[in-house]
Amino acid sequence: MNSDIKICLYLKKNGVKMNKENIKDDVSKYLMNTYKRYPLCFTHGDGVYLYDLSGKKYLDCISGIGVNALGYGNRQITERMKTWGNKPLHTSNLFCIESQVELARILIEESFPGKVFFANSGAEANEAAIKLARKYSLQKYGSENRYEIITMKNSFHGRTFATMSATGQDKIKAGYSPLLPGFRHVDFNDGEGLLSAIDKNTCAVMVEPVQGEGGVVVANNDYLKELRQICNEWGILLIYDEVQTGIGRTGKMFAYSHFDIEPDIIALAKGLGGGLPLGAIVAKDDVAAAFSPGDHASTFGGNPLSCALGVEVLNQLRGGILENCKTMGVYFKEKLNGLMSKHKGIKQVRGLGLMLGVEFQDEATEIVNKCLNDGLLVNCTKGNVIRFLPPLIIKEEEIEEAMIIFENHIFS
Ligand code: PLP
Repeated sequence: MNSDIKICLYLKKNGVKMNKENIKDDVSKYLMNTYKRYPLCFTHGDGVYLYDLSGKKYLDCISGIGVNALGYGNRQITERMKTWGNKPLHTSNLFCIESQVELARILIEESFPGKVFFANSGAEANEAAIKLARKYSLQKYGSENRYEIITMKNSFHGRTFATMSATGQDKIKAGYSPLLPGFRHVDFNDGEGLLSAIDKNTCAVMVEPVQGEGGVVVANNDYLKELRQICNEWGILLIYDEVQTGIGRTGKMFAYSHFDIEPDIIALAKGLGGGLPLGAIVAKDDVAAAFSPGDHASTFGGNPLSCALGVEVLNQLRGGILENCKTMGVYFKEKLNGLMSKHKGIKQVRGLGLMLGVEFQDEATEIVNKCLNDGLLVNCTKGNVIRFLPPLIIKEEEIEEAMIIFENHIFS
């Protein structure tokens, strides 16, 4: 008996409902209507594949929206969880947590001399970055008014009040006025626009090196250089929101390494906790020094098991997966460019590493549904951009399999 059938029988025996309609009904009965969920529930995974309640296999090219960098059923991740045994799952930040220190050490080795603050999500990481920037600026310049942060149009920084206010997309903010003051939005990839928005009240610039939710748009090399120069001249901080681009997604540990332009603060989450909730900021030493005990905190931030899995993720990235992401990213993009040369419906292929977007001339949401039916998970941003964020362990033959399904639905 194959393992899929065994799992299905196990689920049935244990009273798990196999009927997809029931799932949909129960979801709308008990959960708030905040997500457009597919009537689909995954029971297990293996490598880059996920399996639903009926045992159907899906090639995952979205990785839980960029979280599952190591795919599913990673042996060492499973081993770390199994051997956790009776070690506490939570002790709080009143006490020292070994795995936090180990993970922070690796993050600093991979970035720049600095300090780490741990949170639970991308939005929380950005909240910490925003608070730290304001505090640093107040301490350094002594002006209560120097709190403004410039962010980019089409950016996405999260759903909390501060990060929603920072986000450069009106649809995310509709219905929530008044927003948090202190954010200005300028065009992405436009250094002059940024310069004209800066004044004596600006404390930081926050930017995604590759805009993810904004349609997979890569920053120009010169643009990030220009931002760094402008920030240096004005004495303001440069914050990179690497929640989606960080932790190997673009073929380097952090996307900013492609551009060789260091920020003062990096915000991270998504792949960092190996599937468990974990966010972090890394800040340069002098910036991090603006926080003192009591200035910022999180009960769950830097959970011991999440950090232990984070250490495993970073070790595996360093041990060869980053390299795989780099080569497979080039291969994947070549394949997508090949499709573009054949199909007029595709306007542009863009991205870095295994964060790739295919922009269509027209609305592309239907392509996602059709791919899903055929066992390929992808997602659509901005209405006409199909986004690929596969696990970083993906292989050539799996990319080819994905391309066959995807191409079938480009015009149908
Ligand atoms: N920043 C970026 C660049 C993101 O892509 C996201 C989520 O997609 C966030 C922040 C928010 O992260 P979270 O959903 O973990 O709060």
